[in-house]
Amino acid sequence: MLEVQGIDTYYGLSHVLHEVSLRVNEGEAIAFLGRNGAGKTTTLKTVMALLAPQNGKILFQGEDITHLPPHQVLRRGIGYIPEERRIFTNLTVAENLKMGRLVVDKGRNMKPFLDKVYSMFPKLEERRNFLGGSLSGGEQQMLTIARGLAAEPKLLLVDEPTEGLMPELVERIRDSLVEIQKDGVAIVLVEQNTKLALGITQRAYL
Ligand code: ATP
Repeated sequence: MLEVQGIDTYYGLSHVLHEVSLRVNEGEAIAFLGRNGAGKTTTLKTVMALLAPQNGKILFQGEDITHLPPHQVLRRGIGYIPEERRIFTNLTVAENLKMGRLVVDKGRNMKPFLDKVYSMFPKLEERRNFLGGSLSGGEQQMLTIARGLAAEPKLLLVDEPTEGLMPELVERIRDSLVEIQKDGVAIVLVEQNTKLALGITQRAYL
């Protein structure tokens, strides 16, 4: 489904990714592990076209997506849950979810999507009229994941989703990733919690 072939990515003159290759099969969950600063986030951002590789190719479902802009990558079916939990703090939970849906159908058919994410994260339904900025870290992470599902991705890139969360929330996030994969979505999971990552994925890249 996803083939990353020998990519090199730079920040200015700083050469961070050296011929990185990886493959994700349809519906598969893989863990992407490595020490701090190894380049995991940089790899996800390069796949998502937020950074441009200088060499190499990225294929998704057989199509060369290396030079597409990020919104086109999103439309092809790749979703990205960034580490920084970039929600709109001055919009409510429901409005944040609607923003995610605009790219699909201009937010017209929200119900099936909302039913799904509210059953996955009941806390978000309780908080649907709260501003994003008033949510706890765990709730913001749930919202980020829920919004990432709005565009109906076939592959979800998830960057350290449990970082800084208390154990019961870590469980909730873990369960949601299992549920997402059961729905047929492939996952690339960057996670410092190696035990958690290896427990819910089928393969790992180090
Ligand atoms: P972490 O677990 O700390 O997030 P990571 O494996 O995701 O680590 P990256 O964030 O991809 O690592 O960083 C890889 C390297 O690129 C690091 O040496 C980092 O300092 C450098 N780097 C990351 N972002 C930038 C940037 N915006 N400008 C310059 N260098 C950067």
